[in-house]
Amino acid sequence: MKLVFATHNPNKIKEIKPLLPDFIELLSLADIQCFEDIPETAETITENAFLKAKYVKENYGYNCFADDTGLEVDFLNGAPGVHSARYAGESKNDQENMNKLLMNLKNSTNRRAKFKTVIALVLSDREEKFTGICEGKILTSARGTAGFGYDPIFQPQGNQQSFAEMNAEEKNKISHRAKATQQLIAYLQSNKLV
Ligand code: IMP
Repeated sequence: MKLVFATHNPNKIKEIKPLLPDFIELLSLADIQCFEDIPETAETITENAFLKAKYVKENYGYNCFADDTGLEVDFLNGAPGVHSARYAGESKNDQENMNKLLMNLKNSTNRRAKFKTVIALVLSDREEKFTGICEGKILTSARGTAGFGYDPIFQPQGNQQSFAEMNAEEKNKISHRAKATQQLIAYLQSNKLV
């Protein structure tokens, strides 16, 4: 089965690809010659995930899935959440986003946070969503160089390393995105769509 993953983020493709069984042929946006920005203007990560997947289905005709992810910090009442990418401004700069988050958390001792990923699947005859959550905490400073986004300042529960100190395989054992992807695969298999 051919499935487009509607993301321009090569890190997300790198994470998801090893999780997918051979019967799913993953196509990137470049593979289908889609180079434009896809709108992400909704107010929830679920709606944003569907906006992206539907955009590809409607404009390019391919079966498609998209993920949208938010980092929800307890002390900040769930912020940055759906605004995680643009937390420090339109430039969507990872370093600036992390700096702003660390500054807003100041010396707070409540550093609980979670990543939430919603994967929206849009096929010709159906739409489904899958949610993956990874609980953890925000560190007081960045650690590690792997991964992307907020990985250097996020430490998943039960681990001593930040996501950015883990290799892709280690992150994939526990991450929000991996959990949502496992559900996507199970759904395709149990509905005999692959
Ligand atoms: P989006 O899902 O691409 O819209 O991501 C929203 C924001 O969360 C962006 O700033 C990403 O860099 C960040 N982000 C998404 N997934 C991850 C992740 O797995 N680790 C760290 N940051 C992430």
